[in-house]
Amino acid sequence: MGGTPPVSESRVRHFFTVDVEEHFHVNGFESWVPRSDWDRYPSRVALGTDRVLDLLARHETRATFFTLGWVAERHPALVRRIAAEGHEIASHGDLHRRIPTLSPDEMRADVRRAKRTLEDCTGAEVRGFRSPSFSITKGHEWALEVLIEEGHSYDSSLFPIRRPDYGYPGALTVPHVIRTPSGPITELPLATASLAGIRMPAAGGGYLRQFPLSLMQRALRQYETRRVPAMCYIHPWELDPEQPRIAVPWPSRLRHYRNLEKVAPRLESLFAEFRFGSVFDWMGAAPREYPAVTLGRRQAVSA
Ligand SMILES: [Zn+2]
Repeated sequence: MGGTPPVSESRVRHFFTVDVEEHFHVNGFESWVPRSDWDRYPSRVALGTDRVLDLLARHETRATFFTLGWVAERHPALVRRIAAEGHEIASHGDLHRRIPTLSPDEMRADVRRAKRTLEDCTGAEVRGFRSPSFSITKGHEWALEVLIEEGHSYDSSLFPIRRPDYGYPGALTVPHVIRTPSGPITELPLATASLAGIRMPAAGGGYLRQFPLSLMQRALRQYETRRVPAMCYIHPWELDPEQPRIAVPWPSRLRHYRNLEKVAPRLESLFAEFRFGSVFDWMGAAPREYPAVTLGRRQAVSA
């Protein structure tokens, strides 16, 4: 901690975000937990969300909650409680469907329904969106146009890494503006760390559980050196080590249940060292200059 600068107002406030969904909504469970069965599983979302809210209250920190419309329909009081505590409600879509599985019209219907449900819940405008499993991937840049046309002003779906099931390798790693035929949208990509010249995912969630805490600490310090916020995320179910285990094959068990008990202490360590805030508060601050890019076929081919 010798090189850690003192906490002051001039320090970067990283984005702390929560993808509000149930423990059985994980896309990796889709083959075993069909959507038609969702209402038969025990709800745990309020329990995990309350643990996040407690952490944020103790550290006097506001955050952004990317919430499923499906959750808001069944737990409107929970969504109103999140908003009443000063946090931002944003959209995680309605039914947690990955973008590549949808046509543009299907995605439009999904995000429109989620935005309306969330706005009806709190009365506040929903500005932001995060796709399930960071699924705005190469070849699906049209999703950003749908978001703009449906009234979203920022997106946080691009993960500048290469993974078998998601990632947008080649995306900028810092906040930027993406120009599209439907207009501009602010993009807040998920945080990565540079380790021996290799770009590593270091945004929280599974990476907070599976990798040493030091990787995420390194990432946040690297962003502070660049004077830009890092985008971090967590799920309520990751703060719920007692959740019932769903009978899925062992790779999925490992990916989703390993080290759940370590999440709370690791988040405490991060909150002790770093400052966090919501996207809403950052967007409302004095305007800054950010790089603007155009995505599309040219980049998709060259990457
Ligand atoms: Zn999700």
